[in-house]
Amino acid sequence: MLIGVPAETMAGETRVAVTPETVKKLAASGHTVRVQSGAGIAASVTDAAYQAAGAEITDATGAFGADMVLKVRTPTDAETALMKPGTVVIGMLNPFDAAGLQRLATAGLTAFALEAAPRTTRAQSMDVLSSQANIAGYKAVMIAADKYQRFFPMLMTAAGTVKAARVVILGVGVAGLQAIATAKRLGAVIEASDVRPSVKEQIESLGGKFIEVSYDTDEEKEAAVGVGGYARPMPASWLARQQVEVAKRVALADIVISTALIPGRAAPTLITEDMVKAMKPGSVIVDIAAGKGPDGVGGNCPLSEADKTVVKHGVTIVGETNLPALVAADASALYARNVLDFLKLIVTKEGALKIDLEDDIVAACRVAQDGQVTKQ
Ligand code: NAD
Repeated sequence: MLIGVPAETMAGETRVAVTPETVKKLAASGHTVRVQSGAGIAASVTDAAYQAAGAEITDATGAFGADMVLKVRTPTDAETALMKPGTVVIGMLNPFDAAGLQRLATAGLTAFALEAAPRTTRAQSMDVLSSQANIAGYKAVMIAADKYQRFFPMLMTAAGTVKAARVVILGVGVAGLQAIATAKRLGAVIEASDVRPSVKEQIESLGGKFIEVSYDTDEEKEAAVGVGGYARPMPASWLARQQVEVAKRVALADIVISTALIPGRAAPTLITEDMVKAMKPGSVIVDIAAGKGPDGVGGNCPLSEADKTVVKHGVTIVGETNLPALVAADASALYARNVLDFLKLIVTKEGALKIDLEDDIVAACRVAQDGQVTKQ
């Protein structure tokens, strides 16, 4: 099969959908891989490295003109126009963007959005949300450490003792767990909150403390279980109690990393302006949910601004929306392996396309085919 890999064009997107490692495997399976010149450069992969792995170097028209196009982000209008009907496109195509999916369907593309894969054991190796959220959690802590004017670890020096940083993590999915692990390695004291009580053990196993909030009604207990591993919106009564507990910790915190998300909905508000006002000057918030708040404003904190770092009430608030792109080489390496593993489900050993809708991963990821939006 002819496989095209265009350079990503979205502002700030540094990742690329294949690496020399995955190109080599695709070429060994008999595919022809055409990579757009410069596609890997922001992820430190040269055209020469792709060529050495067996790829041909092409331009945008050549990459989008392939039978199958491997992308990181959903194609723009101009990019969609470069693909012929029937082209298979695979990437993070944003399954909650109905207008975007319609555009792909209208262009006659067969599209697979990898974010829609189920959170099952079999899907783990192609789980792009996990591979990228893991990187986001790590980088959030690195950025916080950089912005923070003090040490993370407790230090006893001849010039006196320095206290360990207090870190609060809000939302303990993949990103939150990696943020806890990373902050712990730096020597911080960590507390964390999530709506799902099942994360308590995971937090404690990483050396953090779970912020306990009671579940008082059947409705609260049921919502806390979530669905498919994801959180569901919690009743207002529980959120009010959570806010009281979180506010106490945030007032004492030096760093807050917030990662709370509910698929297909606005990110919950967990750090109000009053809570920011109560924080110590010089504290840092990294809001991984920035840009995903109600109506796209704010994130878990309404004061965060997408893709900006702002100082409000003496607190530095980082609203970087694409943290994995700041770790471009490893983010691309892991993403490219996710893509390669997904291809094994839809391409036969002989190199032919075979879309088996009996396969739950294939069916969940397929978002457009034959002119129709097919999102489940
Ligand atoms: P996510 O990015 O959708 O959300 C991040 C976290 O925010 C979640 O833990 C969620 O519970 C939490 N959250 C939502 N509302 C909140 C609120 N009001 N207050 C505090 N926290 C709130 O989640 P994710 O990282 O994609 O992970 C979701 C789940 O899927 C996790 O349990 C993860 O371990 C699981 N998972 C399973 C597999 C697998 O089995 N293959 C793979 C990856 C992830």
